[in-house]
Amino acid sequence: MNFSGGLSLMAHILINTCYKIARTLSVNVRSVFIVFFVLAFSVFGASYALKTFWQKDNNVEMVMNAIRTCEPVSPSFGSVAGRVILRLDDVQAFAYRDATRSLLADADTYDARLVLGVIPKGILEDEFIQGLIHDHLCNVELAIHGWDHSYGNDGSFEFEHADEDAAREIIKKGKEVFAQLNSTDPVTFIPPGNEVSDGAKKALELEGIRYLSAERADGEFGMDATTYDFPNKKMVEVPDILHACEKKLGENKACIIVLHPQDYLTGDVIDPEKYAKYIELLATLRDKSLLTVTFRDQQ
Ligand SMILES: [Zn+2]
Repeated sequence: MNFSGGLSLMAHILINTCYKIARTLSVNVRSVFIVFFVLAFSVFGASYALKTFWQKDNNVEMVMNAIRTCEPVSPSFGSVAGRVILRLDDVQAFAYRDATRSLLADADTYDARLVLGVIPKGILEDEFIQGLIHDHLCNVELAIHGWDHSYGNDGSFEFEHADEDAAREIIKKGKEVFAQLNSTDPVTFIPPGNEVSDGAKKALELEGIRYLSAERADGEFGMDATTYDFPNKKMVEVPDILHACEKKLGENKACIIVLHPQDYLTGDVIDPEKYAKYIELLATLRDKSLLTVTFRDQQ
């Protein structure tokens, strides 16, 4: 039997049933039809309402993210001895979750602000990382850290050889993702591997990016110190970090210290010995009245 055949059989059964009910109850057949349709619409309406409620329930995490609030930190120094930018690179989807959560929470504890170098690709699919960003949004600046931090066939970094048009497209995609994170328009770009082509620099300018923080960036936003010594594969001691900052601080400029969540891991878990150096850094900055600021604050 085809669809229309089935439908006409159903209608036939329905009409017959209504007539039988009307005869049995000795009532007008029209009343039976009305009661039947009212019941049918009620069942349909109730099932639709339940379905909608169920979908909302499944989106609780998304709703919770939207209503989370951020407590602003309030450093209380007598007088500020200098300014430091803590640039936390490689904040990304489905990676380094525990380390990223701890780094952000302890920054709050020490009244420090961070610049998060966020890899946009996939971040909207990771509700955990999105929740962290929402929780700390009032204390951090979100900087675009490439698109997916991938490498070219020749091992080059994403923006190392990108021409202006390609770079502009990628930056636009990153900005769209940031808009969905409720971030204000990003003004800072951190090229993966700190490598950026001249074409990409032009694209950044056209897309309203005011601060380019890279190793050999022109101007004052190149990195000054790191918390991990990559060539020698070891943590940098806090006094050495501060020593690397002396020149910038002496010029009354913000010293840029680069960190990564993975600096503090051994295997996939937080290494307490390494992590203690982060706490030491935060405590030292506070004790020396060095104020943590963001790139956006620099205007
Ligand atoms: Zn990176």
